Amino acid sequence: MKKEKILIADDSEMNRSLLTDMLADNYDIVEAEDGVEAMSVLNSSASDISLMLLDIVMPRMDGFGVLEAMNRNGIIEDLPVIIISSETSSDHVRKAYSLGATDFIARPFDPEVVQRRVVNTMLLYAKQKRLISLVEDQVYEKERQSDLMIDILSHVMEFRNGESGLHILHVRNLTDLLLSCLVRKTDRYKLTMADISLISTASALHDIGKMGIDEKILNKPGKLTDEEFAIMKTHSAIGANMISDLPVHQQEQLVKTAYEICRWHHERWDGRGYPDGLKGDEIPISAQVVSLADVYDALTSERVYKPPYSHEEAVEMIIAGKCGAFNPLLLECLTENIDSFRSALSADPLDEVKRRKIRSISEETLKNEGGGVSKRTLRLLDRERVKNSFYASMTESIQFEYGVNPAMLTFSVWGAKKLGVDEIIMNPEKDPKLGEILGEGSWDKIMRGVRATTIENPEMRLDLPLKIEGEVRWCRLVIRSLWNDEAEPAFEGAMGIVQDINDTHQKMQELEKKAARDQLTGLLNRTSARQQIELKMIDHSGGNFALAIIDIDDFKKANDVYGHMFGDEVLKFVAGNLRDSIRQTDVSGRYGGEEFLMFLEYKTDIEKTVDRIRRSICGTYENYNVSVTVGVALSRDLGCDYEKLLKAADAALYYGKRNGKAQYCFYDDSMKDLLTAEEI
Ligand code: GH3
Ligand code: MG
Ligand code: MG
Repeated sequence: MKKEKILIADDSEMNRSLLTDMLADNYDIVEAEDGVEAMSVLNSSASDISLMLLDIVMPRMDGFGVLEAMNRNGIIEDLPVIIISSETSSDHVRKAYSLGATDFIARPFDPEVVQRRVVNTMLLYAKQKRLISLVEDQVYEKERQSDLMIDILSHVMEFRNGESGLHILHVRNLTDLLLSCLVRKTDRYKLTMADISLISTASALHDIGKMGIDEKILNKPGKLTDEEFAIMKTHSAIGANMISDLPVHQQEQLVKTAYEICRWHHERWDGRGYPDGLKGDEIPISAQVVSLADVYDALTSERVYKPPYSHEEAVEMIIAGKCGAFNPLLLECLTENIDSFRSALSADPLDEVKRRKIRSISEETLKNEGGGVSKRTLRLLDRERVKNSFYASMTESIQFEYGVNPAMLTFSVWGAKKLGVDEIIMNPEKDPKLGEILGEGSWDKIMRGVRATTIENPEMRLDLPLKIEGEVRWCRLVIRSLWNDEAEPAFEGAMGIVQDINDTHQKMQELEKKAARDQLTGLLNRTSARQQIELKMIDHSGGNFALAIIDIDDFKKANDVYGHMFGDEVLKFVAGNLRDSIRQTDVSGRYGGEEFLMFLEYKTDIEKTVDRIRRSICGTYENYNVSVTVGVALSRDLGCDYEKLLKAADAALYYGKRNGKAQYCFYDDSMKDLLTAEEI
């Protein structure tokens, strides 16, 4: 198999040699001693190079200069560049990324890291190249067929018009050049790459009206008489009629554009052309461009009645207005691209320019059809990913990314080191090293959890024992699933971090073991509940918490009417209901008497949750109706301070009791005066 080519641009021979040694087994290496040399390699064989490793500080032209040059000539779009530099200030890194670098490796480099990044970058680019080349093939085939048609048409016209058979081809190439230049200058005409291609193709038809002109006039060697010239001028209207008389295809954009070109390619900017005397941008841009291309090629070609003018003479005559007035922007394009114009006339129809154009059209097609992602998006995504992984490599945390297709798990540099695995693991579910770290069944457990997430609720947490450096430690996986943006979004992968929670986990376990429980209900007692709640607030810092006091309504009556024993049963009934209606990760406890504590972590809509729990606590015990009032305080409003939350929840409870019981109340500032009013 052919090896991919890597260009190493570095002024230090030592560095080049080190990198070459690392990569030569798997890649063909081309070396450049400075930026100028690198650019000359790229300009001569850019399509051949798959990746460049680029130094920043170099004589003659530095790495930034190379990136800037690559931006100017568009190579940066197609070629991944990994910067290798000892200059790692954030300004430097940022500048490199903003100029389109794909990745950044700090020197002194670790051979392993270089290898990994190179493989990773190649993989990503290969994926996007495959996507584009699929469409490219289709566009290419279409272009080739229309080229054939145009060649045949040119040949037929040549017979009749006495023009060089190349005229049509030239006009086409020149039209393409002028339009490409025009869109760089202005967005006034809103032309896409596909529009440019369409106009260039349609330009081949500009003179078909000449089919309707007498051959004697067409091929007359000398100057035309006024009368003959008047007949000659009808060719534009004749051509337009030929097209508008077509019984089919009238809705095709190509046909519409061909009509414009045929009818108006002899109009002039100042309104002094024919047949309609249109002025300025009344003339469709397609016709404006073709008319200039037509004039230019007529001047530089030999005709029965004149010798060819040189390129300079032709441009001079056009600027001087000898052939009528043209759109000043187009004249700018003509004078600024003298060299390209000259070569456009000798160009092979499938040269580099055209290939690039085909590629651009393919990209547009991809973008518009929505079937794939635009290359630009892919590139931006890649860049985001690369940026993230760069910053990840700077922090000491285990970060990971998982993609379904291809099945690939990527760890941050530090993370991979910490776990003792490769940074990139293909088919992770079958990887023995990873399997050993995770232990039996954990992979499936994680995947089940991830797949249970939704677009609306993409995050999940899972606490697991992992075997890290030979030691089993409890870790928390915080994972966010990723979805594509199809109409029916499909699961694409996930990203996340691994937190070591071994210490808190152990503390929790100890607390749990030692936790003092209330004899009657089996719930945590006041002190244990407080310990667990405070630990949760530290462990999950940043979360949203709610602390609630639940008080049974008119409980004294139950005691008074049915006796103390019955009252105890009601307390057990309420405690059981409470335990059953909260999650395992929440905390419940008996605060004292007929008062209970409840501590919840929540994401959204805590009100709904509290309402649900309150309803499920209430009910009928042995024909006795049990109802409760709930006072709630939120850490969002008051901070993670247990005492403060408890007082506020109590104030809210008091408020609820005073306002009819059998309800829930959230503490807010209007209850401030209740804060000290009631002792708990
Ligand atoms: P409110 O709706 O205002 O909360 O009225 P209440 O009757 O529920 O409230 P109050 O605080 O006046 O009465 C609480 C009663 O709960 C008083 C006490 O005898 C009773 N109680 C406290 N602990 C226990 C217990 O362990 N078992 C039983 N059976 N009763 C208890
Ligand atoms: Mg009470
Ligand atoms: Mg009560």
